[in-house]
Amino acid sequence: MNVVVQKYGGSSVATPERIKNVAQRIKKKVDEGYKVVVVVSAMGKTTDNLIKLAKEISPRPDSRELDMLLATGEQVSAALLSMALKDLGVKAKSLNAFQVKIKTTPHHTSARIVDIDDSVIRENLKDYDVLVVTGFQGVNEHGDLTTLGRGGSDTSAVALAAKLRVPCEIYSDVDGIYTCDPRVHPRAKKLAYITYDEALELTALGAKVLHSRSVEIAKKYGIPIYCASSFTEEEGTMVVERLPEWLEEPVVTGATISHGQIKVSISFLPKDVKYITAIFEEVGKRALNVDMISLVPSNGKVFLSFTILEDHKEDLDEALKEALRDVEGWKSTYEGGFAKLSIVGVGMRTSPGVAARFFEALERAGVTPELVTTSEIKISCLVPEEKAEEALKSVIEEFEL
Ligand code: ADP
Ligand code: ASP
Ligand code: MG
Repeated sequence: MNVVVQKYGGSSVATPERIKNVAQRIKKKVDEGYKVVVVVSAMGKTTDNLIKLAKEISPRPDSRELDMLLATGEQVSAALLSMALKDLGVKAKSLNAFQVKIKTTPHHTSARIVDIDDSVIRENLKDYDVLVVTGFQGVNEHGDLTTLGRGGSDTSAVALAAKLRVPCEIYSDVDGIYTCDPRVHPRAKKLAYITYDEALELTALGAKVLHSRSVEIAKKYGIPIYCASSFTEEEGTMVVERLPEWLEEPVVTGATISHGQIKVSISFLPKDVKYITAIFEEVGKRALNVDMISLVPSNGKVFLSFTILEDHKEDLDEALKEALRDVEGWKSTYEGGFAKLSIVGVGMRTSPGVAARFFEALERAGVTPELVTTSEIKISCLVPEEKAEEALKSVIEEFEL
C-alpha cells in the first residue's frame, strides 16, 4: 500500500472553492494509486479571528479555554474537505486529535507531540482512501485539547508521516522555500533543495514557511519534506539530510527576519550561577522562547540580557519574580522595537569571512547590531525594527540571495 501524507495550510482551504480544488488534487493522488493522509489547517484567517474574539472576552484568555476555542478551526476544514471528497466519489473520512490519539505535553498553546497511536490511522486506511486529520491540535495527559503553537499543522503532518514512515508533502500559497520571503522580496530565488539543518535555522529564526518543530521531527526520523504550492503545478523544494553532490553549495543559503523582539536586560544579579539556573528554569516551565543570551560579570554582580517575543513579556515578568524572589536590588528593563536578522547556510562551515561580509552589509545600511549570536551555520543579530528590511536588503545583495 502506497501511503503519503499531504498537508494543506490555511490559504489553501480559505474558501469553499479552494477546498473543492484541494479535493480535486487529492483525488488525483488517489487515482494514481495512493492512500492519502491529509492534514488541514483552519480556513484562511480563522485562527487569528478566534484569538481576536477571545481577547474581546478577556485580555489574557485562559490558555486551556483558548485551545478549546482554537481547535475548532481545524475541525471545520477537516469536515468540509471530507464532504468535498465524498462528493467526488472518494472514500474519505475526517478525524480529530482525540480520534487519532495525538498525545502532547501539557503546555496549552505551545504543546509538543509526544506520541501518535498509528493503529487508528492504519485500521482506517483499510476501509478509506483518504483520512482528513485536523492539524495543530492534540490531547494532553489530562484529556484536554492542546494546540502546537502558530503554524503547528506542519508539525502534525510531519509527525504523522514519521509515525507511518511515509513521505510528507506540504502545500501552501508559495511554490517552495526561497532564499528569503518571496512576498517581501519578489526577486528571492527558489531553492530546489535545502538541508534539514538550514531549514531548521531559517524557520526557527522567523521564516514561517514551515513550523520549525516539523523540521526537527523530519530530521530525527529522516522523513523527506516536499514543499510546494496548492495553486500551481510548479516544482517545489525538497528538505533533505544532504544536498545532492552535483549541486554547488552556496555560502549562504537564506536570510530571514523575526519581528516583534524585545530586549530584556536584568541587572545587579548576585554572582552565583544558581540564579541564572533559576531564571531559565522558570522560563522553561512557561515554555517561553529565549534567545541571544549574553552574560556580563561586572563589579561582583552579573548583568544578563536576552531577547523574547513581545507576546511573552507578561509571562517572563512572572518568571523573573518567581526565580529571583530571594534576591534584593535586581532590576529588569524591557526594550521593544527590535527585529532579529539572520543568515543561514551550511557553506559557512567551510567558507571563512562570512561574518565580515555580513557586518559590512549592515554597515552599508547604516545599522549597528545590538546583540549577536552565531552557530556553525548561522549568524543572527538584533537590529532596530525600522531598519530591519533595509539591512536585510543589503545582506541579500551581498550574498546574492
Ligand atoms: P500555510 O498557511 O499554508 O501554512 P504559511 O503562511 O504559514 O502557509 O507559510 C507560507 C508563507 O511563508 C508564504 O506566504 C511566505 O510569505 C512565507 N515565507 C517566509 N519566508 C519564506 C521563505 N524563505 N520561502 C518561502 N516562503 C516564505
Ligand atoms: N491554524 C493554525 C494557525 O493559524 C495552525 C496552522 O495554520 O498551521 O496557526
Ligand atoms: Mg503555516
